[in-house]
Amino acid sequence: MHPLAKLDQTHVWHPFTQMRDWLKREPVLIVAAKGAVLRDVRGREYLDANASIWTNLHGHGHPKINAAIRRQLGKIAHSSALGLANEPASVLAAKLVQAANPKSAGRQPRLNKVFFSDNGSTALEVALKLACEFTQRSRGAGRRPTNRRLLEPRFLSLAGAYHGDTVGAVSLGHIDLFHKSYSGLLFKTDQVMSPYCYRCPFNRARPERADARDYRRCNWECTGLVETKFRAQKRKGNPYAAFVFEPLIQGAAGMIPQPSGWLRRVTDIARRHGALLIADEVMTGFGRTGGTPNTLFASHHEGVQPDFLCLAKGLTGGYLPMAATLTTQKVFDVFLGEYGAFKTFFHGHSYTANQLGAAAAVASLDILQGKKSADARPTLEKVLHRELQALWSLPNIGDIRQVGLTAGIELVRNWRTRQPFDLQERAGIRVCEEMAKRGVLTRPIGNVIVLMPPYCTTAAQTRKMVSAFRDAATEVFGVR
Ligand code: PMP
Repeated sequence: MHPLAKLDQTHVWHPFTQMRDWLKREPVLIVAAKGAVLRDVRGREYLDANASIWTNLHGHGHPKINAAIRRQLGKIAHSSALGLANEPASVLAAKLVQAANPKSAGRQPRLNKVFFSDNGSTALEVALKLACEFTQRSRGAGRRPTNRRLLEPRFLSLAGAYHGDTVGAVSLGHIDLFHKSYSGLLFKTDQVMSPYCYRCPFNRARPERADARDYRRCNWECTGLVETKFRAQKRKGNPYAAFVFEPLIQGAAGMIPQPSGWLRRVTDIARRHGALLIADEVMTGFGRTGGTPNTLFASHHEGVQPDFLCLAKGLTGGYLPMAATLTTQKVFDVFLGEYGAFKTFFHGHSYTANQLGAAAAVASLDILQGKKSADARPTLEKVLHRELQALWSLPNIGDIRQVGLTAGIELVRNWRTRQPFDLQERAGIRVCEEMAKRGVLTRPIGNVIVLMPPYCTTAAQTRKMVSAFRDAATEVFGVR
């Protein structure tokens, strides 16, 4: 065993990892990377097929981001945002505001305030707390509320939702496997059906060798249920304060894409019932879901502008942990007042608005908005689509769902019946292990294999990602 791997195994506890399995074999220990290629301590190379857990945008070691970080390092790495402003965070905030309010965003609200934090979970915590206080203050404004329950704002999120691992974000989540143990710590939220067309009880279509969104037969019962949920909550005398969603595709839920029009419909319902919209674009932001340079955020593909836009992962191009929660003047104003009125937003982190992260993020946004990346992304999207289509001939493929530059491949025991593999069988894990042997790294979500190439991935590398999957699936399921 390599001595560094030994150190890891002796001391490091890995996230979302069964450490007993981890300790059974020498881990892949990454020492360097360039573009879409990671290199380990033994000199082996791998394609980064999940963009380093969905964070990396332009590839590793991008000269512009490297230079921006080095430049910033020559000045200062970090000073506190509690009581001090700084150069890159100010520039970044202005650029984010510009990117978050394109014409495609449609109507108001305008997102013009940026609250920085450290990761996707904290981006959601910030939105949650802001929405909570905003609701309490606007409902109780200047008078004693007659109904105390109105001051306990209630949130609605989607079935299967995952919004991070801090306790507030976990409260918004609905993945029993991850969240059940902590139920005693959590505040109560409600869930509503998400449009998982492939496994939707309202989809009357028999399975086909195509993306279930394209052949589904239903009457939009899923959006009807959203309406029902909002009405029922209103009748209880405490209308939902906010609706929390991942737009266009839910990630950790199992790469569940929404049929075209769903987002528009459900957000219209939420708005009609007076709820705030919290868009978790931690995964979907920064061009991940395709579109034009004017639609860097998934919500804007359907002309939806939320009240809170939560960003992390790709914000720094996948370089440094940093997050941002964008919101409106209206929300901001509710927190203004005399010091002694204590309307301050009492929230923040030691590394809030960190200069190195902000410098990386400014450089990453510049690359993203430049012509080269804008031209490359649609091409990569097409190549990925073409390659994925060839997989339908495999018998253990149930659904292949791609949204822009992200794709989920659902493995099933039998595609005609949609019968899933039991999680104990570790089908997804086994396929990913075989892919790693073929030089392609990704992580499954249960039985769903994720492909999320960095935007610099070439056509040949995309082909290699998909063919490694094909060979791995053939190896694991033994059918040719
Ligand atoms: N929201 C979404 C949609 C995510 O995919 C994730 C992470 N997978 C998070 C929030 C949490 O982000 P982080 O891991 O940076 O806390």
